[in-house]
Amino acid sequence: MITGSDEAIAVFIQRLETELPSPGQITQLSVIDVALECFDDFQIRASSDGEKTTTILPDLAPCPACLAELFDPGDRRYRYPFINCTHCGPRYSIIQVLPYDRPNTTMQRFVMCADCQREYNNPTDRRFHAQPNACPRCGPSLAFWDRAGNCLAEHHDALQMVIDGLKSGKILAIKGIGGFHLCCDGTNFNAVQTLRNRKYRPAKPLAVMYPNCDQIKQDCKLSISELNLLKSAAAPIVLLRQKKSLSLAPNIAPANPEIGIMLPSTPLHYLLLDLFKKPLVATSGNLAGEPICIDNQEALTRLNQIADGFLVHDRPIVCEVDDSVVRIVQEKPLFLRRSRGYAPLPITLSESTSKSLLAVGGYFKNTVAIIKNNQAYVSQHIGDLDSQKSYQAFQETIEHLSNLYDFKPDTIICDLHPDYLSHQYANQQNLPVELVQHHYAHVLAVMAENQLPCPILGVAWDGTGYGLDGTIWGGEFLRITDQTWQRVAHVRPFPLIGNQQAIQDPRRIALALLWETFGEQVPDYFINQFQSLNLPLLKQLWQRQTSPLTSSVGRLFDGISALLNLVQIVSFEGQAAIAVEAQVIDQNNYSTYPYDLEMIDNKTIIDWRPMILVIAMELSTKTRTIVSISSQFHHTLINILINIAQQKNLDNIVLSGGCFQNRYLLDQAIVQLRQAGLKPIWPTQFPPNDGGLCLGQLLAKIYPRKYQI
Ligand code: ZN
Ligand code: ZN
Ligand code: FE
Repeated sequence: MITGSDEAIAVFIQRLETELPSPGQITQLSVIDVALECFDDFQIRASSDGEKTTTILPDLAPCPACLAELFDPGDRRYRYPFINCTHCGPRYSIIQVLPYDRPNTTMQRFVMCADCQREYNNPTDRRFHAQPNACPRCGPSLAFWDRAGNCLAEHHDALQMVIDGLKSGKILAIKGIGGFHLCCDGTNFNAVQTLRNRKYRPAKPLAVMYPNCDQIKQDCKLSISELNLLKSAAAPIVLLRQKKSLSLAPNIAPANPEIGIMLPSTPLHYLLLDLFKKPLVATSGNLAGEPICIDNQEALTRLNQIADGFLVHDRPIVCEVDDSVVRIVQEKPLFLRRSRGYAPLPITLSESTSKSLLAVGGYFKNTVAIIKNNQAYVSQHIGDLDSQKSYQAFQETIEHLSNLYDFKPDTIICDLHPDYLSHQYANQQNLPVELVQHHYAHVLAVMAENQLPCPILGVAWDGTGYGLDGTIWGGEFLRITDQTWQRVAHVRPFPLIGNQQAIQDPRRIALALLWETFGEQVPDYFINQFQSLNLPLLKQLWQRQTSPLTSSVGRLFDGISALLNLVQIVSFEGQAAIAVEAQVIDQNNYSTYPYDLEMIDNKTIIDWRPMILVIAMELSTKTRTIVSISSQFHHTLINILINIAQQKNLDNIVLSGGCFQNRYLLDQAIVQLRQAGLKPIWPTQFPPNDGGLCLGQLLAKIYPRKYQI
């Protein structure tokens, strides 16, 4: 309540909106006149019971004021790795239950000293009611452990031991804000290789933390939007284009023109990088397929064969919060992973519900979501649900979100795929279960971010998703009206020879594309290229027509990747498709390959065989470079988008699915759809990949539509 002249009140309201200190956000602002009352003091009272609706903030990087104190020798928190204030520091990763008061956080074990308490009680102090408030005298502290768990050093000496270890090429596990990182010297080829070998991670790019923006600029191209994103309070990993003069070891992101870069996201990391002064590999502290470690003892056991030493601290972490990964496309963020710095901020949906819905996502890059009224809370990235450990993290995340928001689901929404652990979880809860088709959920997730008038054309291009007709979908065009959704076009299905084996070995997909195009007479060029495979056996499998069929654009990328001989065996999801994208150089060549559109059963089938015919000719006659074939393949896909939109007479085009993580594809699709007078809509707050599925699943239930054949 404020009192004053009309003018002063108007200025106050205006300043409230324009000068709101970070990380504050106004979700709703309404002004009402009330009878005059006089007050002579101001208090923040203890939280009382009631509906738990407060928004929980994500964990935020140190604010400028805290950073200044961190490096000020006169400050009482000089070089204290756990400095924070009301504007910054840990939140989501330390809150056990609401309300957000100190006894409900993992800071409860630390009793504030008199100085800290004074700050905490003083309304004019930056640390007034800062729940994680701490100082070297009363707060958490560091320790360096060897592999056996012996403490070798504490406080600043522990940091120094880390620096010495990194300089001598050691791999160290470092406990951050939402879990452990595995770290090594980013300029040391051997150290990076050791980390790769021990983590069984041969090719997937590793993220690197830089001491400052100037050093990033020396190694990478950096736009203003990318710079702002790096420096934001969320401090995500931003994928940047490498310069030729890169100082990093070449095995950090092999065969990839981009590299995942972040700035320090905690005071501890600022101190580390201040001492180390070089780029530091900081990859998730986990074993392949498992969630990151958050507990000291657990890290000691699980990372024992990877890390040479452990930098730990005694502030417990409630739940795994991995680093977020973002790309800039068209000056806007494109999330590849939405986690630290963003989760669990809610999104306001245009539809409200009185139901308590829990959506459990898919399989890859799993996230879960709950809804209260019209606020959807999407969890942090949990990971692929393919291990007992990640399934456990999945269950704990549901529990954690439910505890925080006093939430009990009355319905669970999951993917159609019966083999997904998330689907099986839904069936085991003794609650009504709603199934939502994968690609429909992809499109709805983007619609949740944007208020769109129907009808729209939803494009869902990804690697895999359970289709309504028993085939594997992934190259889908959905017409969505206010009442219905309909599959109006899709890529011509092709067989995945050996199913899962075709996903690991994209040469099987390339062969399927060739056989489907040429029949049995495949050009010799490819017979030679694929001779290490058992071709007679694979051909038999193809002829028998027992392999599952897919209409997936992601798998089409895989097949092209193998035709171009870029990737033979895949060691991480998306590797083959990324290799095709990596070949593309922005050149003003918009030519496209031929393809056919055929109407079957009221659906347009996109026949890619004319394209494969030409690509095969170009490769076997060596008349085109891989770079120009890759670009032309991208432009063909974009041409298909425009063609189908025009054929179906729809203007609003929603782009969704993992394929749109591809920067060139998304960027060019936006540009060319606009040039054709169409309106592209793409996700800027949630990932286009399966990390956004749960949001779409919620919307499918809140606003039901009928599937139209
Ligand atoms: Zn601060
Ligand atoms: Zn203190
Ligand atoms: Fe998907």
